[in-house]
Parts: sequence; structure tokens; C-alpha cells
Amino acid sequence: MKLQTIIRDQDRLFIGDQVPEKYKSDHFISDVAKVHAVALPISTEEVAELVQYANQESLAIIARGEGTGVAGAQVPIKGDELIIDVHKMNRILELDEETMTLIVEPGVKNGDIQEYAESRGYFYPPDPGSKHSSIGGNVATNAGGMRAVKYGTTRDYVREMEVVLSDGSVVSLGSLNIKNSSGYDLKDLFIGSEGTLGITTKIKLKMLPLPQYKQSALMAFATLSDATDAVLTILKLGVDPTALELFERETIEYSEKFMNLALQSQKGQAYVLMTIDGNDNEAIIGKIALVEDMLSNDALDIIPLPNAEEEKRHGVYVTIF
Ligand SMILES: Cc1cc2nc3c(=O)[nH]c(=O)nc-3n(C[C@H](O)[C@H](O)[C@H](O)COP(=O)(O)OP(=O)(O)OC[C@H]3O[C@@H](n4cnc5c(N)ncnc54)[C@H](O)[C@@H]3O)c2cc1C
Repeated sequence: MKLQTIIRDQDRLFIGDQVPEKYKSDHFISDVAKVHAVALPISTEEVAELVQYANQESLAIIARGEGTGVAGAQVPIKGDELIIDVHKMNRILELDEETMTLIVEPGVKNGDIQEYAESRGYFYPPDPGSKHSSIGGNVATNAGGMRAVKYGTTRDYVREMEVVLSDGSVVSLGSLNIKNSSGYDLKDLFIGSEGTLGITTKIKLKMLPLPQYKQSALMAFATLSDATDAVLTILKLGVDPTALELFERETIEYSEKFMNLALQSQKGQAYVLMTIDGNDNEAIIGKIALVEDMLSNDALDIIPLPNAEEEKRHGVYVTIF
């Protein structure tokens, strides 16, 4: 078997010197080792055949999505690896409104899933900062994001997945049943395994109803320690925050300089950005007021932030500058 008989389109196969530079590096490392070839399959069958080819030629395999990882996991390290880049397997296959699940191929971008879900009144919570990363990569890294405080990580939203194993066989892991306690939990073993156990080729994701309202507040504190204490206070209040993002003045100064804008609070050395969402706007306003009340002696500033329209379309990003 030859690679060219598996991947017949020239623009989906790069061998030896034809391999583009982007496949040899991430943000931190580059040119560690050469690549045997890069193949871009468009079906599970092609992925399975590529894995069989790698076995036949004794090649190591690297799975790759959008290549946003910064831990070197999608970059060759031994030399002569076969990179299987699944980002062209990028179809949203089926929204099942009865079970509130969405079946996608691994190359669909996180931001596209969020947008698709929201346009139909559903919500896909995992929101890693890299909106252009692939769902296959999100599953392989168990990506989280700011909303993980309330909604958890990618693991919590994978109902079933199709995986090509190292011998080229195709298996289905997981189940639609919430109580599924017999045998080993292989689905959860694969999630977060960075492509070391197999290549994900299809994923059935859990969707939630889209919350109707959200409100954010920026809080400033004299010290980092005050800010971390405030986070614990908020968690104990039972207000169920969607996001609690902590950042220091020193890091904010880089953004202020880069964007030529000033953070809305210039007080203190540390900040907490809090978001609360839900379907009862009065309840959300009440929860924000409770937090303000509890932290009135500890915070230097508590600034309610403009919401909804002014928020970026995805994630819990708000106008903090
Ligand atoms: C700006 C930025 C912000 C980020 N913010 C967050 C954040 O807030 N929270 C968070 O948790 N993470 C964050 N990340 C990390 C992010 O979650 C990962 O970079 C992303 O999930 C990887 O997806 P990818 O498609 O780019 O995968 P790649 O970078 O291509 O690959 C990453 C890993 O996944 C494996 N892989 C990819 N596709 C498959 C597949 N189909 N089957 C099996 N294995 C596969 C690869 O082998 C590799 O081990 C951030 C990254 C960036 C660059």
C-alpha cells in the first residue's frame, strides 16, 4: 500500500520536503525533527487506512487538528512521523433536538460549534481562548475555558465518540445513557489523552438550553491575596458564577500598552472578572448585589460591566477596557 493510493488528492498529501513549515513547530518549539509525511483525510475510512499504512511502515503517528496547542504534542520529535491532520473533516453532521446532542466531525472549530448551537437556541459551554481550535483537539486536551467554573470542561459534554485505534480498527465509545456504569469508562480515558490512544473521527456532543441573561462585574483588590480570598468568598456564597477570572496589574499593563486602552479600574494590584448567567435576570442582578455587599470592605472597586450587545459574540468576554 502507498500513501498516494489512500490520499489521491495532491493538495491533501505532503511527503518529505513538501511538508509545510507549520507542521514542524508550535508557538514555542520548531524544527525538532523531520516529518515523513502529512496526510489530510476527509473520512474515517481514510484515517483507518492511514493508520494501517503507518503500522506497515513502522511510522509513529501524530494526530493534528488546528495546531493551536502550545505543548509540542502535535509537533514531530523523533523524525519520520506521519502526521494525520483531520482539520478538513469539518462537517456539522446532525443536531438531534430530542436528545439535545450535536454530532460533529473532529475538525469543526470550537467557535463554529458555539455559533451553530446559539443560532438554534442551544448552548455549548466549553470556551477555550482559542476559538479557532478544533473540537477533536479540544477533546484530546480536555479543553476548558472561562466558563469551566460553572459548566465544567469538554469532558462533561462528550456523550459518544468514534475513534480509530492504533491497529486501524474503528470503535464507538460512550453512550447516550447518563447512568452508564458497567465496565471501564473508556470514553473518559480517551478524553485528554492527547491523541496517544487513537484518533477521534466523530463526536456526539451534549447541548444545553441557551441561558437568556448574563451580567459581569470587574472587581479590583489591593493585593493578589485579597483577590484570591474574594474568589473563595464568592464561591461560598452560592451565587454559582459562570466565570471567575483572576489577573494581576502587571499582566494587564501589557494589554493596556498593546491596545492603547486603560482597564476600567486603575486601582490595586489584582482583579477578578466575574460573570453570572441564567434565565432569571432579577435573580442575576440580586446575586451581583449580594457579591457587592459581601465584598464592600475588601474590594477597592466593583464595576458592573456593559453586557449582552457589547459582549463579544462568543464566550464571556466583556468590555473591561
Ligand atoms: C490563545 C489560546 C488560548 C487557549 N485558552 C485555553 C483555555 O482557556 N482553556 C484550555 O483548556 N485550553 C486553552 N488553550 C489550549 C487549547 O485548548 C488547545 O490548544 C486546543 O484544544 C487544541 O486544539 P487543536 O485543534 O488546535 O489541536 P492541536 O494543537 O492540533 O493538537 C493538540 C493535541 O490534540 C491532539 N489531537 C488533535 N486532534 C485530534 C484528534 N482528532 N484525535 C486525537 N487527538 C487529536 C494532538 O495530537 C495534540 O496532542 C488555549 C490555546 C491558545 C492558543
